[in-house]
Amino acid sequence: MSEASGHVLVFPYPFQGHINPMIQLSKRLSKKGLTVTLIIASNNQREPYTSDVYSITVHTIHDGFLSHEHPQTKFNEPQRFINSTTCSLTDFISREKLKINPPKALIYDPFMPFALDVAKELGLYVVAYSTQPWLASLVYYHINEGTYDVPDDRHENPTLASFPAFPLLSQNDLPSFAREKGSYPLLFELVVSQFSNLWRADLILCNTFDQLEPKVVKWMSDQWPVKNIGPMVPSKFLDNLLPEDKDYDLGDFKTEPDESVLRWLASKPAKSVVYVAFGTLAALSEKQMKETAMAIRQTGYNFLWSVRDSERSKLPSGFVEEALEKDYGLVAKWVSQLEVLSHDSTGCFVTHCGWNSTLEALCLGVPLVGMPQWTDQPTNAKFIEDVWKIGVRGKADEEGFVSKEEIARCIVEVMEGEKGKEMRKNVEKLKVLARDAISEGGTSDKNIDEFVALLT
Ligand code: UDP
Repeated sequence: MSEASGHVLVFPYPFQGHINPMIQLSKRLSKKGLTVTLIIASNNQREPYTSDVYSITVHTIHDGFLSHEHPQTKFNEPQRFINSTTCSLTDFISREKLKINPPKALIYDPFMPFALDVAKELGLYVVAYSTQPWLASLVYYHINEGTYDVPDDRHENPTLASFPAFPLLSQNDLPSFAREKGSYPLLFELVVSQFSNLWRADLILCNTFDQLEPKVVKWMSDQWPVKNIGPMVPSKFLDNLLPEDKDYDLGDFKTEPDESVLRWLASKPAKSVVYVAFGTLAALSEKQMKETAMAIRQTGYNFLWSVRDSERSKLPSGFVEEALEKDYGLVAKWVSQLEVLSHDSTGCFVTHCGWNSTLEALCLGVPLVGMPQWTDQPTNAKFIEDVWKIGVRGKADEEGFVSKEEIARCIVEVMEGEKGKEMRKNVEKLKVLARDAISEGGTSDKNIDEFVALLT
């Protein structure tokens, strides 16, 4: 570990899936000797929190919304978020600069390009940290450059999309924002505008590793000062790769998982449980939720399904009770996904293919059934199925609906089919490469060391 004492500010985009990898990065930087201040833009101001274990302090800054407004509001009113957060970030950094150990750098999520401008203005070294894979960012980059035109109507453009360093992509493989203009205009603007001023960043980090997306990484590195530092998965789940490391709750802004879930899992035979989870944002249609539930029941496997409270009413009536009574399934409102994926009883993961979930499964050697919903998920699913061959994607109809027969077929294929055996072997190989990348002297670890050396 290098000796260092530099102070760095870390500023995640306030989505759980973006905050988590920033927390992991903060922990790694702290372990390498840096002092870290994690800044969360929120409508609920909390007292600053300092970890007992890491040299990390968490501060909230005001995002311009009232405490009773739903967190989602800020995504519907991005300009209010940008204006207010620009002011509060400027104030915060200015105050930090007057302290004994002033910050030298800001690591920000490129979904907030205004943060780069603020930090440059205040004389900091500025690092963009993309919590999305390059394989999605590259598509957004081409849209911003005007080298890929998003069609007005995807049905009028059935041709395959071609990007450098990529396999050909069908419309269904593209990130949802690149498929059709106007479906989510605000989010479209968000993902594309990350490239509006990225050329001003001193360094670009990404939560991936060189060996996972080599061609895309090579192409990106030719245009930008890129360093891959992932996968950002807590090290306690990586077979004591760093034996002295323990994962401590750093106020991850989520409730603790119910211990009874892990006890239930432990009561099941090895590789017998289908774990199902669609992340923190995706909302399946009621029809798709019911169809998924019926598919799981049809396969007859044990299952554990993480269903947020807001989604629970979409399950078929009696589904949860019957599974509990016959002891073949459990629905929980939140699980520790890493504990579940690293558990012997887990046989496969039915997922929306969010980038964190994909990396977590890959690091823990669990094959996947992909049911991508939107954003980068379809492109991740394409790579999961056709490039890395660590899972299978449920084929959807024109409307994006996947039938119960198809879901059941995919689950059975991964759990016990011939192709499933291959997928398991492939995911084991990637698991080793991922661990090599982040272990001492590995490509991602070296990249972090080089960054830390810049600040000391
Ligand atoms: N997650 C979890 N428990 C759950 C559901 C999700 O710990 O019950 C975590 C999961 O481990 C991952 C994150 O939430 O780190 C979801 O991120 P991802 O990028 O997969 O999807 P998003 O929520 O951004 O769509």
